[in-house]
Amino acid sequence: MIPGHQIVGEVIAGATAGLPIGARVGASWLGGTDGICPYCKRGEENLCDAPTFTGYSICGGYAQYAVARVDFVFPLPPALDDFHAAPLLCAGIIGFRSLRVAGVQPGERVGLFGFGASAHLAIAVLQAWNCEVYVSTRGESHRKLAASLGATWVGSESEKPPAELDRAVTFAPSGDVVIAALASLRKGGVVAINAIHLDRIPQFDYDRLLWGERQLRSVANMTRADARDFLELAARIGLRPRVRVFALDQANEALLAVKDDAVDGAAVIVP
Ligand SMILES: [Zn+2]
Repeated sequence: MIPGHQIVGEVIAGATAGLPIGARVGASWLGGTDGICPYCKRGEENLCDAPTFTGYSICGGYAQYAVARVDFVFPLPPALDDFHAAPLLCAGIIGFRSLRVAGVQPGERVGLFGFGASAHLAIAVLQAWNCEVYVSTRGESHRKLAASLGATWVGSESEKPPAELDRAVTFAPSGDVVIAALASLRKGGVVAINAIHLDRIPQFDYDRLLWGERQLRSVANMTRADARDFLELAARIGLRPRVRVFALDQANEALLAVKDDAVDGAAVIVP
């Protein structure tokens, strides 16, 4: 299996009227769906019973060539160059979906718990919606990046935002962080968990943390509509991810740097 779930490339075979040879396209985490299961029929293809995932169940983009389903690639806006388009294709799209799942409305107070590749793109979307953004994250360099990107407040993982939040998105794979986000929420607020795996969610006080119609939701995958809407917004607001570029033969170093939290923003591999 070739990893790599955010691919930028040019069409070299299998062209269609909409995607001619040479068209620049992105392939994202969602490699395909069956189109016939109850979830696909309901318009919830992110929950498809028989999906394929790029770099996980089908080969991904750490390569010179890749195969993708024509109905699951997206034309890329000319405003986005290759390096700055790639990190949008999963981290960006699913971060955007997390804001939708949390029900963010323009002007609200939104907390981002954890500040890596996905959160550093979500903050730009929130600013376009005139939201106040509160960032709680470990790591001095992540906090500096959040401050430089215009967060209203930045604190460590043990600090509580100074205002009650309307919405929060958690990015760290830690149940403790989910509880910290819940504890920061106003009545009726929503926490969306943007993590495939969590260590565990600790026991918590229902009366204080969930009563009052607070909601806890998970975010699973993405739909093609999320991708199209996000890429259009990204081009319109001039979203430019922070990237660090590695050559393909440095892929192991890139993965190690991400694992060690040593990359601010996103790592991009160029074949
Ligand atoms: Zn399906």
